[in-house]
Amino acid sequence: MATQKISNFLTLFAPPRPMAAFPSNLPVLTVAITGAAGQIGYSLAPLIAQGLMFGPHQKVALRLLDLGTAQDALSGVRMELLDCALPLLHSVDITADPHVAFTGADAAVLCGAFPRRPGMERQDLLLTNAGIFKQQGRVIRDAAAAHCRVLVVGNPANTNALILATSGGLNPAHVSALTRLDHNRAVGLIAARLGPTGAAHRQAVIWGNHSATQVPDVESLSSAAAPLSADDAAYFHGEFIPQVQQRGAEVMKLRGLSSALSAAKAIVDHMRDWILGSEGRVVSMAVPSAGNPYGVPAGLIYSFPVTCAAGVWHFAPGAVLTEDIKRRMDASTAELVEERTLAGL
Ligand code: NDP
Repeated sequence: MATQKISNFLTLFAPPRPMAAFPSNLPVLTVAITGAAGQIGYSLAPLIAQGLMFGPHQKVALRLLDLGTAQDALSGVRMELLDCALPLLHSVDITADPHVAFTGADAAVLCGAFPRRPGMERQDLLLTNAGIFKQQGRVIRDAAAAHCRVLVVGNPANTNALILATSGGLNPAHVSALTRLDHNRAVGLIAARLGPTGAAHRQAVIWGNHSATQVPDVESLSSAAAPLSADDAAYFHGEFIPQVQQRGAEVMKLRGLSSALSAAKAIVDHMRDWILGSEGRVVSMAVPSAGNPYGVPAGLIYSFPVTCAAGVWHFAPGAVLTEDIKRRMDASTAELVEERTLAGL
């Protein structure tokens, strides 16, 4: 843990890491954030502007998109960002027009999505969001940089990402959805249960959909770790799984608001590892399932263990799946197939 802290601290003084994801060392990276007047956007924009996503030497231009009704709130966010006097922040543009937000964007984080209202059917939610992500996929295709890496956060995130990639005809390898917060929650709970020594070599993985069917797993890629005691095995096969799955609902109940701070941190982790590289660490990302070594059918955006280098992710091989994990993964697959059908794909 101490070593990790020192290494995080040292990155502040490290020389720039190469960004082979992008054509050359761009003087300013343009980052579009949708739903930027929302809770996650408010926590996320300052982290990016402090250099936590693209490194301490990379200037960023922020394009903040939200609905017309949220433009006053966006103006306030813009004022606060300028008042932070952040040296890496080149500019902040606010808009309700996706063309303005995405033109020339090198990276895009899509938080804006229609929330589920009481009495709303699941299909209505899927179709409403499908409309938003279809349009944004086409605009990203037409206006963003060809190398633009896109992260979908707005729920249902996996299916929204699939709609975006399909309707925009985007390079599927450039589109992903967020399960890193679930992954980080699992990492935190593993450390709390086993302590730093017990957690060493124990790899957290999130499989499947970012929903209650997600599969938090601490064993399939943990062959180098000491075996679990009977008590710990009972915990990780039992209570731990709903603890991770329901963590967001728990925070919401206690705070009265969703987990925006940890979601923003997870977004930064996801994009930084994807674009600058995960340096050999295995992380969870929801990515297109085609070609995966775990038998998940092609045509879905599904969370897998991956490693990343210079803007390219690779499936992490070698996970040994128990029958219980396989059964849970199948249930998450079935949910994603149903969502895809309900969304009209
Ligand atoms: P948040 O900023 O809290 O959340 C944004 C999205 O992220 C929601 O879909 C939310 O889903 C999802 N999300 C929250 N936590 C997580 C997590 N841990 N992992 C993955 N996804 C997560 O919502 P707000 O309501 O504060 O803000 C939404 C903003 O989007 C508003 O400002 C609204 O105006 C805007 N909007 C923009 C649209 C557009 O750009 N076209 C369309 C519709 C809305 P969930 O709610 O299920 O947790």
